[in-house]
Amino acid sequence: MLQQTQAATVVPYYNRWLRRFPTIRSLAATTESNVLHAWQGLGYYARARNLHRCAKMIVEKFGGRLPNDPSKLKSLPGIGLYTANAITVFALNRSLPIVEANTARVLTRLFNIRAPIDSTHGRQELWKLSAKLVPQNTARDFQNAMMDLGALICTAHNPRCQICPVKEFCCARDPASLPRKRKRAAIVRLTESHSLSTKEGAVLLERCHHRWRGMWMLPPLKLDGLKPSILRRPIYVSMFPFTHHRVKLRIFRQPAREIYTGSQRWFRTDALGAIPIPSPHRRAINALLA
Ligand code: SF4
Repeated sequence: MLQQTQAATVVPYYNRWLRRFPTIRSLAATTESNVLHAWQGLGYYARARNLHRCAKMIVEKFGGRLPNDPSKLKSLPGIGLYTANAITVFALNRSLPIVEANTARVLTRLFNIRAPIDSTHGRQELWKLSAKLVPQNTARDFQNAMMDLGALICTAHNPRCQICPVKEFCCARDPASLPRKRKRAAIVRLTESHSLSTKEGAVLLERCHHRWRGMWMLPPLKLDGLKPSILRRPIYVSMFPFTHHRVKLRIFRQPAREIYTGSQRWFRTDALGAIPIPSPHRRAINALLA
């Protein structure tokens, strides 16, 4: 949950998640729809799908127990080098390197690394340094300290070098200019049009296939063939970010009609709380049905 998401946002989700799926077996046994419902609002839904697949695989291959060997952990969906090592270090105090946002910033500055940290070369350098520095018997304390140093002292803006406990070893000449990153992809603007059709206390939704696979959204609307007067009057407009996209969501009212694709369904409006709906569409539905 913490990948790409701040801890303050995650905490209520994490607590609700553990109440709903208290064991690996309970997560493995539930449906993808329940998993997406518990995750809705956190975004980056691949994480939820991976966690679900991961729980199933742990039950099938490892008898329901999380393996304690990093190479076995890495064979599970959604678990890469960082997560496998972090689990092994923090749960078992094994001596392994960890490179995440905070430790990457501290290492980059301590050793004045000029290579972009999101380049292959930059990443390799950081992992090598972390492996060299991590102590044999106190890896858990060491990695905690590195993360805290990055979060509290060696911050992204205005690092507090005067009170830094490792300032005498630090090689950074201009700490605020580090770490370097590759140029970001330019923001792409998109406009997406969807329809709102209601009848007798129900709303028409369509199962998503791509971005929000497995969730339910207002049906996409093909604009060709619609009267220009309708196109001028969306009943709802909002903006939302998605990776490097900025999406303008426009909703147009459409008359209730027979379902014309297999992936559409009428849902009672008082039952919408129980199904997974991506946040931009849930906000639109709540505003329009209020
Ligand atoms: S001295 Fe400054 S730049 Fe160097 S590690 Fe400490 S806080 Fe970061």
